[in-house]
Amino acid sequence: MKYNRILLKLSGEALMGANKYGIDPARLEQYSTEIKKVRDQGVEVAIVIGGGNIFRGVQAEKSGIDRVQGDYMGMLATVINAMALQSALEKQGMYTRLMSGIKMEQVCEPFIRRRAIRHLEKGRIVIFGAGLGNPYFTTDSTASLRAIEVEADVVMKGTRVDGVYTEDPEKNPDATRYSKITFQEVYEKGLSVMDMTAFTLCQENKLPIIVFDMNKPGNLFKIAQGEEVGTLII
Ligand code: UDP
Repeated sequence: MKYNRILLKLSGEALMGANKYGIDPARLEQYSTEIKKVRDQGVEVAIVIGGGNIFRGVQAEKSGIDRVQGDYMGMLATVINAMALQSALEKQGMYTRLMSGIKMEQVCEPFIRRRAIRHLEKGRIVIFGAGLGNPYFTTDSTASLRAIEVEADVVMKGTRVDGVYTEDPEKNPDATRYSKITFQEVYEKGLSVMDMTAFTLCQENKLPIIVFDMNKPGNLFKIAQGEEVGTLII
């Protein structure tokens, strides 16, 4: 395998599957199967999952809820997703640990860097829930920072688009996909990969990002093996 330790970022929205809200059990099962394939090859897997299928901080403001309060609600939403994913992974026989950026000891461990690394070394899949535990951040920033902290080789951002395009492919069908692009080019061309905080963290710490379509079976495995799938940002 090309990568020994990966950080997989999954958006909360991806968990909705065909639904408009919440968690689609079929999608959870599908993702767990994909994750198992790489885990079975010895790849150490850390996961950050978003909460957009349940709640987003920016949404709160529109409904009159204080932004910071809304962000905490968003962080709690990620824990719900993380628990669902943990359960799905365990159903397929994987060993897992859920670590949270907000203390909630009845359901998960607090995030402790050295302990997270130890879990990974032992082959456990570590899910980082509750984001960074701070408002005004996103789960993309969580993915970048945690990946750096646990010394992952790469951040794999699983989305429903199969990479970074010259323009939004859903708006312009003539847009073309980059197979490889530098951090600098992404800045210069104003392409959207992650929010700037998340993106800059990766750039400054020389942590490559791969944007790929997580819904296509086999993609995660192919990338872990070193095949060129999606867009590599270096
Ligand atoms: N959030 C936060 N701090 C963090 C991570 C997340 O405040 O460190 C909040 C923020 O309100 C965000 C929500 O949690 O909107 C859900 O995360 P995100 O929108 O990143 O989820 P995704 O888009 O990946 O589903």
